[in-house]
Amino acid sequence: MFGLFGNEKQDHTATINNGEATITVKAGDNLLKAALEAGLAWPHDCRVGSCGTCQCVIKKGKIKALTDFSYVLDGEQLKAGTALACQTILKSDVEVEVEMGDAPATKLLQLEGCIVRVNDLTYDIKELVVKCDSEFERNMMAGQYAEISVKDIPTPRSYSFATAPRNENKGEFSFFIRKVPGGEFTEWLYAQDRVGTSVGLSAPYGQFHLRPSSSSQMVCMAGGSGMSAIKAILEDCVLEQTERNCIYLFGAQAERDLYCQEEMKRIKEQWHKDYTFEFVEVLSADIEGSTWTGPTGFVTDYFKESYIDTSAIDLKDAQGYLCGPPPMIDAAIKLLVSGGIDEESIYYDKFLDASSIPGGR
Ligand SMILES: Cc1cc2nc3c(=O)[nH]c(=O)nc-3n(C[C@H](O)[C@H](O)[C@H](O)COP(=O)(O)OP(=O)(O)OC[C@H]3O[C@@H](n4cnc5c(N)ncnc54)[C@H](O)[C@@H]3O)c2cc1C
Repeated sequence: MFGLFGNEKQDHTATINNGEATITVKAGDNLLKAALEAGLAWPHDCRVGSCGTCQCVIKKGKIKALTDFSYVLDGEQLKAGTALACQTILKSDVEVEVEMGDAPATKLLQLEGCIVRVNDLTYDIKELVVKCDSEFERNMMAGQYAEISVKDIPTPRSYSFATAPRNENKGEFSFFIRKVPGGEFTEWLYAQDRVGTSVGLSAPYGQFHLRPSSSSQMVCMAGGSGMSAIKAILEDCVLEQTERNCIYLFGAQAERDLYCQEEMKRIKEQWHKDYTFEFVEVLSADIEGSTWTGPTGFVTDYFKESYIDTSAIDLKDAQGYLCGPPPMIDAAIKLLVSGGIDEESIYYDKFLDASSIPGGR
């Protein structure tokens, strides 16, 4: 499938699943982008070559890999012609096989807008609100994310919606953005007041959203700016009056990292009255002089000791919703599986950045 021949500088077509669909992949675009723009329900999560969700098999034709697939795919898969669609540029017309996802296919919106508000949530997390220039039909689900691009940064960055779509002001999108030391986009955002700056916004992406399940327990865990997607999902549960018990554990280092406490209080007050919503903050750093009397330690250890080991929660048929830093998510998946949650019922969004993307950005 790889080869010296072929021409990546021209448009090509991809014929999918024996002709179920044929799409044009513009020169320079990756296969996943073209599929999502065509409104196909192509499975995907990170779109940076790390999660492997968008894998497909190239049956015929030549491609160029933007990153080394062997970070994610094993020898057998590579031999079978498996490729990561988000890292695949076409060098010829191709024939592809892919198992389409269960998520409803939604066409990508390409919007222009500008930053209208930037608010400090903590010392290193800001709320960024973008208002779009034109009318559009809001087709995203709580939990999904957008790609934001600005003129000064060569590649767009991904940020989860921090508010349930139905709770947003007309034409607006809100995001929670954590400052990453040495990070190109976040250092740019934090360097000066960016209100009024033009941005491009492409959305919706991702498969992190609430899955229907009658009455099953929800276990949500987040850290840092991972609050965003979980908050959006919980707001949607309130709007829908979802009939489920939910525990949401938020892990942070110190009290200065805590935020959205009023919002969580409101969610608790407005949760379906026959079901419970519990919000628990867990602090991991022992800061001298702190007056914190709440739970301490890693959020995963705390959940294990206080809920799983004591059988304080029934995890049979439960679903996990995890969002934030990759190490927290990896630990949480292990824990929830050991606690009895089926791995297939654990949904997550890892906030990967250039330091965790194979080969950097
Ligand atoms: C699906 C998804 C959703 C996300 N949602 C959110 C969200 O809601 N909120 C949020 O805050 N973040 C979110 N992120 C993360 C976000 O997209 C950015 O990656 C993050 O903000 C950092 O961007 P940056 O440009 O500041 O840093 P980058 O420029 O990407 O750099 C990040 C770090 O990597 C280092 N680095 C740079 N290049 C390399 C290299 N080649 N090798 C090793 N290290 C390198 C930098 O020094 C820095 O420390 C999400 C990510 C994904 C994939």
